[in-house]
Amino acid sequence: MSIKNNLQHIKASLPPHVTLVAVSKTKPISDLMEAYNAGQRIFGENKIQEMTDKWEEMPKDIEWHMIGHVQTNKVKYMAPYVSLIHGVDSLKLLKEINKQAKKHNRVINCLLQMHIAEEETKFGLNQNELNELLALEEFKSLKNIKVTGLMGMATFTEDENRIKKEFTYLKSIFDELSIQPQTLNFKPETLSMGMSGDYQLAIACGSNMVRIGSSIFGARNYAE
Ligand SMILES: *Cc1c(COP(=O)(O)O)cnc(C)c1O
Repeated sequence: MSIKNNLQHIKASLPPHVTLVAVSKTKPISDLMEAYNAGQRIFGENKIQEMTDKWEEMPKDIEWHMIGHVQTNKVKYMAPYVSLIHGVDSLKLLKEINKQAKKHNRVINCLLQMHIAEEETKFGLNQNELNELLALEEFKSLKNIKVTGLMGMATFTEDENRIKKEFTYLKSIFDELSIQPQTLNFKPETLSMGMSGDYQLAIACGSNMVRIGSSIFGARNYAE
């Protein structure tokens, strides 16, 4: 199957309220252009340098999403153009994004990454840390970032019940946020969960943004 076919197949299977992020990390620009020419306009990358190289070379009507762990010292490279940063999990990082966004006169949308998986290795906040962060005056004072939702990754397992439990838990946190009063920099509407192996389950559990890589572009040439 070609990239175009894969993309069309996946898009046809998504309900209209679900946004598709085509995860193109490690893939060459020719592959991204094949998806672009088939109509895809949102791409996700996990390395700032690689994303910036691609942004420079590719059409400017693309929305670039940073889906990987972000190092504070690299925020400046994507601040001019990034559309959404999925993996934000500290005030320190939010402050740096705010600072760099301000230099470019922008407001950068961010998702707070929640730790929902069993594994210790994954990044993210727990529910207490999330509520503490959102309650901080220092957070409320940040004018050049906007928290537009949550992101999470389920445990890497074959156990569907486990994954379902984790997605359902994340959805419940999202629902609690959604009934809190919105402010200038807090407007939760996006729940980013689901990848190639589990996006259908994620959607069934309430996801409205899926991050799909290998099912569109094929397997990647490295172990993650
Ligand atoms: C790589 C990656 C994806 C896409 O994974 P696939 O299994 O190839 O669909 C989604 N989300 C994050 C955070 C990733 O790093």
